[in-house]
Amino acid sequence: MENFKLGVKRPLIISGPCSAETKEQTLETCVRLAETGVVDVLRAGVWKPRTSPGTFEGVGLKGLAWMAEARRLTGLPISVEVASAKHVESALEFDIDCVWIGARTTVSPFAVQEIADALKGSGVPVLIKNPVNPDIDLWAGAVKRFAAVGIPMESIGLIHRGFSYYGQSRYRNAPMWPLAFEMRSRFPEMMMIADPSHMSGTVEYLYELSQAAADLRYDGLIVESHVCPAQALSDSKQQLIPGELERLVRSVNWRAEAVDDPEYVKAIDMLRDQIDQIDTELFSLLSRRMKISDDIGRVKKANDVAILQSSRWGAIKERILSQTDKLGLDREFLNGILEAIHLESINRQNNVMQDAEL
Ligand code: PEP
Ligand code: MN
Repeated sequence: MENFKLGVKRPLIISGPCSAETKEQTLETCVRLAETGVVDVLRAGVWKPRTSPGTFEGVGLKGLAWMAEARRLTGLPISVEVASAKHVESALEFDIDCVWIGARTTVSPFAVQEIADALKGSGVPVLIKNPVNPDIDLWAGAVKRFAAVGIPMESIGLIHRGFSYYGQSRYRNAPMWPLAFEMRSRFPEMMMIADPSHMSGTVEYLYELSQAAADLRYDGLIVESHVCPAQALSDSKQQLIPGELERLVRSVNWRAEAVDDPEYVKAIDMLRDQIDQIDTELFSLLSRRMKISDDIGRVKKANDVAILQSSRWGAIKERILSQTDKLGLDREFLNGILEAIHLESINRQNNVMQDAEL
């Protein structure tokens, strides 16, 4: 089999069980996934970093032997999660095709460094999951550690699996898409795939998250699949049987980035011109509004009045938010904009108050 490389197949579909549990479960899942024809790389966790002790922590080395057997039976490349130098050594002994760094490992620079050192020179591609906490520098730092030991950028990829979130969220791990865009703008050439399984936490949201990733031009998906999800020893609620996995993958529409059909180009150009025009107006209005805030600051200063007047702010908010339906805008979105404008307005008034010249 030729060496597996990132960036060749797009979309790249990785699938397999959350954990290799038994030889039968691993082989049956992998063989059935290969038969679907939609899977490019097989995955399984053999060492499981669990949040709580006493839960299933993986079968270790024998899981690697089962995955190697799955590769022999299917002809597909295999990948596992590595969390230490020892894991890397074992994975390399089994001639692993690809490894990934789990979200709980990306948070630890020591662990990432020792994995990078152990992987150095092996030629094996590495996929780096985002850290559990929404910290882009930590994610970027992990990429830099692999690059610094000489692993070529083309052999490094990203997995966006969502971020742990305190409070209510629709998903187990909130996608926080803008953070992933930030990561992409730091590494524009690097491939990024989405992990809707760990974002969702249940099978319920896999379709919407997978399609969202395709719409946002991700380069593929990593999705968990198990022959009998109800009996899975980890992540049982989010795994699909191989047939369902096939349906999911086939349902995703990986739209073209751009087409050169003149009708399309004309229509999109017209709409973009309108957006540019509106943005210009929007920001010049904002600029005028802020200048008025400066004037208000001057008037308050002259009259020795406090900046923050909560009743006035309450009235502004109330007036705008009562028009949510008429404006056809989401209430939370409007609220966010109002808060940002208010904060900047207070900063401006503060500057006026403190500056003797203004
Ligand atoms: C996994 O892929 O099974 C896994 C443990 O994921 P994460 O590191 O994203 O929690
Ligand atoms: Mn899992």
